[in-house]
Amino acid sequence: MPLANSHLDSIAVHAGREDLAMLGVHALPLDLSSTNPLPDIERGGASYEAMATGGEPLADGGFVYQRLWNPTVARFESALARLEQAETAVAYASGMAAMTAAIIASTSFSGKRHIVAVRPLYGGTDHLLASGLLGVEVTFCAEDEVAASVRPDTALVVLETPANPTLDLVDIATVVTAAGDVPVLVDNTFATPVLQNPLALGATMSLHSATKYIGGHGDVVGGVIACDEETASRLRQVRAITGGLLHPLGAYLLHRGLSTLPTRMRAQQAGAVEIAAWLQSHREVEHVYFPGEDDDRGLVGKQMNGPGAMVTIALRGGYEAAARLTSSVQLFTHAVSLGGVDSLVQHPAGLTHRPVAAHAKPSANLVRLSIGLESPEDLMADLDSALSAESVPPTHAAGSDDPTRPSSAFA
Ligand SMILES: *Cc1c(COP(=O)(O)O)cnc(C)c1O
Repeated sequence: MPLANSHLDSIAVHAGREDLAMLGVHALPLDLSSTNPLPDIERGGASYEAMATGGEPLADGGFVYQRLWNPTVARFESALARLEQAETAVAYASGMAAMTAAIIASTSFSGKRHIVAVRPLYGGTDHLLASGLLGVEVTFCAEDEVAASVRPDTALVVLETPANPTLDLVDIATVVTAAGDVPVLVDNTFATPVLQNPLALGATMSLHSATKYIGGHGDVVGGVIACDEETASRLRQVRAITGGLLHPLGAYLLHRGLSTLPTRMRAQQAGAVEIAAWLQSHREVEHVYFPGEDDDRGLVGKQMNGPGAMVTIALRGGYEAAARLTSSVQLFTHAVSLGGVDSLVQHPAGLTHRPVAAHAKPSANLVRLSIGLESPEDLMADLDSALSAESVPPTHAAGSDDPTRPSSAFA
């Protein structure tokens, strides 16, 4: 394989494109077919059968139907797998569709119904696990309680590192050891394959909300899981049966996004390092959460090769200061999501972590920043003036969006 010894930057640009020159094209081909012409009933049917049971299409049988297989999606999957040092990958319509498929595949194929989840997690993942919607029993625990939480009927251990929103680091290799034979799924959304490869540390699945850094431009929703062939076969089977496949246009955009992923990550990270250091001494800031700070185990440099580009701050002025900041920024956009080329700010307790149980909800004075590609100097000037803003505009009056109010709504 010509790319076998290449560096990450070269793989990011070229993976999944090996046959383009042979096809006589330079840009990624985009195949939008919802259905495909069949050679004949027998061969088409055999290909259908192969894909519906988690396999690949038969060479002489065709792709049959987009829910079973799409070549643009398959190209993106192979490229992402290369970056994750994985055998393969399976892409979904969103990060949550990927998480749902991972839970269904882990429980239904093992006949076990218990899941261990290390908190904190992304609010949507926490909500999915706590909702009981998938008929699983969940034990939420801290990293050092994994061994004690695993039972004979445990199908999966779920963790996120850096975790949302406090950027807590979880030692992946330690959890893998504590989990014993139980597969471990790592949500690698915040680190991306550029900074962290969970499979190399013993995890079974590395999941991404591709909506975030992988897409990188805030214009596509998608999810993907890098894993071995055996796991992928189960994940593909769940995808074929339940749907939730990634749209080919999304796959095209995500694959294009991979080319710049290492460069974007490095540049956004450099900005975040500068901004996090500046925030440390800001009078309105009580604490800065940033990977590498409070990192006694030295996980940045060991399991992650950089801190990433997310910064969370605790404000001295509590919820009111958070409301003022989010409604006063000019260069940052007040919006959920993260990982794009433009900087975003959001209030986890009120938005992304709204459905999380009260005792596990992030504190009301936390604000999460996703640092983009703007000049760090301009971003700091924007934060400085927003942190010093005096009053709350009427539409964001304190109390109108009380994050401590119990809610089952899903934002
Ligand atoms: C956004 C996010 C998800 C969910 O992904 P969607 O693409 O929004 O469905 C899962 N995990 C993390 C860490 C996220 O940030």
